[in-house]
Amino acid sequence: MKQLTVISGKGGTGKTSITAAFASLAKNAVLADCDVDAADLHLILKPDIKKTTGFHGLNIAHIDKDRCIDCKKCYESCKFDAIDEEINLIKESCEGCSVCEYVCPVDAITMEERDSGFAYISDTRFGPMAHAMLKTAEEASGKLVTVVRNNAKTLAEEKKKDLVIIDGPPGIGCPVIASLTGVDMVLIVTEPTLSAIHDLERILGVANHFGIPSVVCVNKYDINMDNTEKIEQYCKSNGVEVVGNLPYDTVVTNAMIHEQNVIEFSDGNFSDRIAEMWDKITERLIV
Ligand code: SF4
Ligand code: SF4
Repeated sequence: MKQLTVISGKGGTGKTSITAAFASLAKNAVLADCDVDAADLHLILKPDIKKTTGFHGLNIAHIDKDRCIDCKKCYESCKFDAIDEEINLIKESCEGCSVCEYVCPVDAITMEERDSGFAYISDTRFGPMAHAMLKTAEEASGKLVTVVRNNAKTLAEEKKKDLVIIDGPPGIGCPVIASLTGVDMVLIVTEPTLSAIHDLERILGVANHFGIPSVVCVNKYDINMDNTEKIEQYCKSNGVEVVGNLPYDTVVTNAMIHEQNVIEFSDGNFSDRIAEMWDKITERLIV
C-alpha cells in the first residue's frame, strides 16, 4: 500500500480541489483529510460517517478549590497565564504542562484529559475516508493528524486498498510533518506568486529532510508566466519534476458550488490536465 500526501506552503492554493479530483481518478484508494484545523474535503466528498471516536489532545489542569490553601504557587509558576490571581483556570490558555500540579503543596491540582475533537471513519462515493474535526481553539492538531493517518492505514488494510491519498495541512509546522512522515510521495501544489515560491522552497526542504520524493503542480500557472518559469527553473535545478501546470479556470469554483469535484463536473481541458498529472504521479508511485 502506497501513500501520497498533497500539500502546499499555504492555504488557498487549490490543494483540496486537486485531492478531491484525485478521489475520482483513483480506482482503489482511501482518502484522508489531514487538514484538521480547516477540514474542507468533506464539503465535496460528503462523507457518510460510520464511526466517531473522541480525541483527547493536550491535558488540562483541574483545580480542586476545596483543597486549595491559596498559596498562589500555581499562579506564580504558570508560564502561560492560565491561572488567575483568584486561582481560577483560564481553560483556553492551559497548555497542559503539569507545572501547577507539580508545585501545588496540597495536591489540589490534577491533570485531566481534554475533549479536543473527533475522528471519523466514513464512506464516500469514491471509497472510504478518514477525517476529523478539531474543536475551536484546540491545539495538538499534529496528534490528530496521526490519528487520521492511522485510521486511513487501517482502512486500507481492511478493505485491501492500494493507495492512501492524504490532503495535508498548509504550512510547515507539526501537523504538516505528521502528514508527511513515512509517505511514498509528496505532491506540492503551488502558485506563481513570490510568496508561494518561498513557501515551495520551505516545504521542499522539509520533504527532503525526511527523504520523501516530491513532485510539484503549479496551479493557475497562467496568471504570472515569469514566476511560473522561475518555479520550473528552481524545480529543475533541484531535480524535482513539475508534473502539472493547471490554468486559472472558473470550472474549479463552479464544481465546488455544485458540491462536486472538477472531474465529475466537467470533462474539459482542466479535468484533462488533472488526469494527465494523475497518470504521471501513479506511474512514479507504482513502480
Ligand atoms: S498545566 Fe501548565 S499551562 Fe495549564 S494551568 Fe498548569 S501550569 Fe498553567
Ligand atoms: S498551588 Fe495549590 S494550594 Fe496553592 S494556590 Fe494553587 S491550587 Fe491552591
